[in-house]
Amino acid sequence: MDTRKLLRSLPKTDELLKRADLVGLAQTLPLPVVTDAVRDAVEGVRVRLLAGEEAVFDDDSIAADAISLAQDRMRPSLRPVINATGIIVHTNLGRSRLSEEALRAVVEVAGNYSTLEYDVESGERGSRHVHVERLICDVTGAEAAMAVNNNAAAVLLAIAGLAARKEAIVSRGQQVEIGGSFRIPDVMRQSGAKMVEVGATNKTHLADYENAITPKTGLLLKVHSSNFRVVGFTEEVSLADLVALGAKHGVPVYEDQGSGVLIDLAPYGLPDEPTVRSSIEAGADLVSVSGDKLLGGPQAGILVGKKAVLDRLKKHPLARALRLDKMTLAALEATLRLYLDPERALREIPTLRMLTESSESVSARARVLVDRIVEVTGDAFWVAAMPDVSRAGGGALPLADIPTTIVTLSPRTMGANDLESALRLGNPTIVARIRDGRVVLDPRTLALHEADLVVARLAEIAAAE
Ligand SMILES: *Cc1c(COP(=O)(O)O)cnc(C)c1O
Repeated sequence: MDTRKLLRSLPKTDELLKRADLVGLAQTLPLPVVTDAVRDAVEGVRVRLLAGEEAVFDDDSIAADAISLAQDRMRPSLRPVINATGIIVHTNLGRSRLSEEALRAVVEVAGNYSTLEYDVESGERGSRHVHVERLICDVTGAEAAMAVNNNAAAVLLAIAGLAARKEAIVSRGQQVEIGGSFRIPDVMRQSGAKMVEVGATNKTHLADYENAITPKTGLLLKVHSSNFRVVGFTEEVSLADLVALGAKHGVPVYEDQGSGVLIDLAPYGLPDEPTVRSSIEAGADLVSVSGDKLLGGPQAGILVGKKAVLDRLKKHPLARALRLDKMTLAALEATLRLYLDPERALREIPTLRMLTESSESVSARARVLVDRIVEVTGDAFWVAAMPDVSRAGGGALPLADIPTTIVTLSPRTMGANDLESALRLGNPTIVARIRDGRVVLDPRTLALHEADLVVARLAEIAAAE
């Protein structure tokens, strides 16, 4: 048939919309979505015909296209995925997942009126800082605390609050880029402080800081190199030495610590990272960390330190712009409360549980996963368990090789890339890695029910082959 004839034979949108399947669809999805999907499905065929492509179509195939288009458009854009990468604080996948306690708190607070800024005792206006301040102080040993939107906001507020129109001294070895456009020199500029760089990339000495101190100095800043390491001929000034120097010259010392370690993780085989408490004990006037990296809570920035410093920051005009909403506050409060019992925090905060699960335990889960995959997929894949490493992710503990056991899948007919994309594009979305021509699943970041979903999805893919 010639193209013109085919174009004329395309069904009309109105006619298609009378079909039982599309009428049925419009009972569950909004009518405008269904109408648009039908129009777009017809248009899709028209475009293919006009491009001279061979298009085989009938009403059924166009209706099927429309149904899948409409369902696609109603699928949430922000939705859960299954993280089988073994990267625990996966930045692109939302960093930390919340504990059950935190989830319950969010739902309760979000669906009701709350004590957000209401003092129940007096019946008067309260402060939103109170919900987490006491807890943060309890778990870090600090005098005062506040929480803002993320750690980038905390850094901005800290520098603006302490060193605007003054000089902030920072080591050349700590000009960190955290990701995207977040770089310490840029934040300095935004906050109105003049950055004074001291030392060299690999070495900075206490005398470098001391020689740079002038009457205009407002801040000594130490940025923890959370996401990289300089190795070899290196030297950094300790926080304690900076604190002593600051005290001598009456200049506050602020440490941007990044990862947010509240419990010493070294006993679990993880590298020695400074805890917030250790920096407070070393005498820092101010310390900031992220809420959703190793701390394992919601996206937030936590500022802790001396009361006079925090009082100043709470009153800063930026504080309002950077403040937390009630859902995040609820999640943060619940997460911090778990830390009052460190054993419980390690058990119930998913990020901590995944970081500290023993390699034996992950290995046992990997072997079970292999058996179950073989059981439901027959000989569609070569499946094996082998030792590998998981990563902390989120720019935290960059050198930590966390021993794990991965499950590798080599499809017998399709390519590894096809299997990876089938997992990623299916429902649920499963994110896996590819290495050496094999698809790799790391059970460390898979919850038990997620392993079931992965097995079920692999069975579907194998059956479709
Ligand atoms: C991650 C990090 C930040 C930024 O924190 P966000 O919570 O991502 O805004 C700032 N400083 C350091 C040292 C970090 O590691």
